Amino acid sequence: MNVALARAWVQAIAAAIEEQTDYLTQLDSAIGDADHGVSMRRGFGAVVTALAGFEAQTVGDVFVKTGSTLVSSVGGASGPLYGSAFRAMGKTLGEPEVDGRRLLAALTDGLAAIQRLGAAVAGDKTMVDAYVPALAAFEKELSDGGTLVSAAAHAADAAEDGMRGTTSLQARKGRASYLGARSVGHQDPGATSTALLFRALAKVTATAAS
Ligand code: ADP
Ligand code: MG
Repeated sequence: MNVALARAWVQAIAAAIEEQTDYLTQLDSAIGDADHGVSMRRGFGAVVTALAGFEAQTVGDVFVKTGSTLVSSVGGASGPLYGSAFRAMGKTLGEPEVDGRRLLAALTDGLAAIQRLGAAVAGDKTMVDAYVPALAAFEKELSDGGTLVSAAAHAADAAEDGMRGTTSLQARKGRASYLGARSVGHQDPGATSTALLFRALAKVTATAAS
């Protein structure tokens, strides 16, 4: 992944969020406060604007800028969580180009930042339930000799499985946890946006390689 591909990824996330704004908000209206789609659209819209006038030297520069912009433009739980994840990812990527292993390490730092801030573990019905399996699949595919492209594809599939798996869970973190057992039967909005994020990575890496 080089600087251009990092930019393309973030832009693809913004486009996916834009397309799925209503869906994400609908999911959040069932077990939250109906702002997830709108918040994410505002955040990634601000990121696209910020990146347009920004000279990035390294892949990390792109992610740090993305994270800082998310933190400052999105309130609620998801802004700080995604913002700190991107900032943590960016901090470790001080090169103009990184391979799958380096991206894996950065994605691992991103999850750690989310868990440091939000204290959610797998099974709590949050974005972590999409992120954890995605990261595991990414790592396994690289260990099995796969490329960045195939690792990202496996990660996206696993994130979507994890996302669907949140439906049967009871929320133990965030706003949805206030509903107790009534949170069961609804797909988590944050796990859904995390799945979009990994699907966007799979798409842009595949496009860049073809
Ligand atoms: P808010 O809940 O403040 O309105 P959003 O609606 O933007 O924020 O985001 C809600 C999503 O944030 C949830 O669906 C969940 O995935 C995620 N989330 C909430 N709390 C946590 C947490 N402590 N750790 C990880 N993710 C969380
Ligand atoms: Mg909300």
